[in-house]
Amino acid sequence: MDPRGNLDRTIDLHIHDGVLTIAPPEIPKDADVIRLNGHIVTPGWFDLHVHLREPGREVAETIDSGCQAAMNGGFTGLACMPNTDPPLDDAGRVQWVLDRAAPWPVDVHVIAAATRGREGKELVEMSELHDIGVQAFSDDGSAIRSTAVLRHAMEYAHMLGARVFEHAEDASLVHGGVMNEGEWSTRLGLPGMPTIGEALDVLRCILLAEYTDAPVHICHVSAKESVEWIRWAKGKGLAITAEVTPHHLLLTDEFCKDFDTDYKMNPPLRSEADRQACREGFRDGTLDTYCTDHAPHTWEAKMQEFDLAPFGIVGLETALGLAFTHLIPDVVSLEEMISRAVYAPREILHIPVPRIATGEPADLTIINPTAHWTVDPAAFKSKSRNTPFKGWSLTGQARGIVSKGCAVIRDI
Ligand SMILES: [Zn+2]
Repeated sequence: MDPRGNLDRTIDLHIHDGVLTIAPPEIPKDADVIRLNGHIVTPGWFDLHVHLREPGREVAETIDSGCQAAMNGGFTGLACMPNTDPPLDDAGRVQWVLDRAAPWPVDVHVIAAATRGREGKELVEMSELHDIGVQAFSDDGSAIRSTAVLRHAMEYAHMLGARVFEHAEDASLVHGGVMNEGEWSTRLGLPGMPTIGEALDVLRCILLAEYTDAPVHICHVSAKESVEWIRWAKGKGLAITAEVTPHHLLLTDEFCKDFDTDYKMNPPLRSEADRQACREGFRDGTLDTYCTDHAPHTWEAKMQEFDLAPFGIVGLETALGLAFTHLIPDVVSLEEMISRAVYAPREILHIPVPRIATGEPADLTIINPTAHWTVDPAAFKSKSRNTPFKGWSLTGQARGIVSKGCAVIRDI
């Protein structure tokens, strides 16, 4: 299935030297034949927001384990965030990550830091980074606090054909918070992070995009007001793009009531009204892309008390199953999900979008849409296990990828 090519039928795919021929007149005698009856083959899924943790926190994830988690989850490509230790804020460090990832059949792109040391003061050497393939800049983990610095980052990135990815947050409003500010934070006695702490920064980005004519991408939208402002900005024709995570589409802050730190992330799980707004925004395309904010943490780190544990959950190995079980077709059609998970993230990065067509590189995700399985974190390829979806029964599972001349397929 490749909606862009109006392709939705049962056909043979022949792959030779990593290049596709669809519906070949005959199958070569020496070909390995893999029967995918009952499966769906789509162009390869791409996760636009991943934390690979290397360098610096290899105990939680490495480039190797993160790539294996991506493959296991059905992703042929991902973009990783620069909040490593040290941060990915110069060409040498970015090239090191690209080189480490190159042998894996996952197309890894680096989102470089927007400012040196992610300190929000001085822009990185954007032009030099763009020359080695960087298409996006972000201080993710934090917002770019100075509006003047954010403005210059957006303008300079735009000159290069790249864009800034903003982790939308007004630090003065959310500082010290550990969950959504609302009824549940009051009941649990935990400090809250109000939705306006996100929406204010979303509006700041929108106003800057209008003033500078530069595009901007909003990471992990979680608040109703944010969705409404982004919809308004898109209606005005501004170059705003945005992403949403499975957890903000499926969970609310009520899940924090047992103090399980696998429900602690930033931005936090919000109210039911926010969740519904995110679903509506995802349905109507206000939120362009489905990405995980895969944020591995060790068991020891997450075993701390709720207010001390780090923010973040893993997502690469559950996103596709959650989409097939809970979002298709209730929120989006399969065609729309392919658009959000395959086309949109690559268009935002200005990288080629894979197609299922003769002569194209084979870049495919193989899905069993009827497979029943239970999320067992012990079976993850990721080094970390911090998922709020542990024990969930899902229907629909990635069974392999084809990418960069490799086929990695299981349980067919
Ligand atoms: Zn973030």
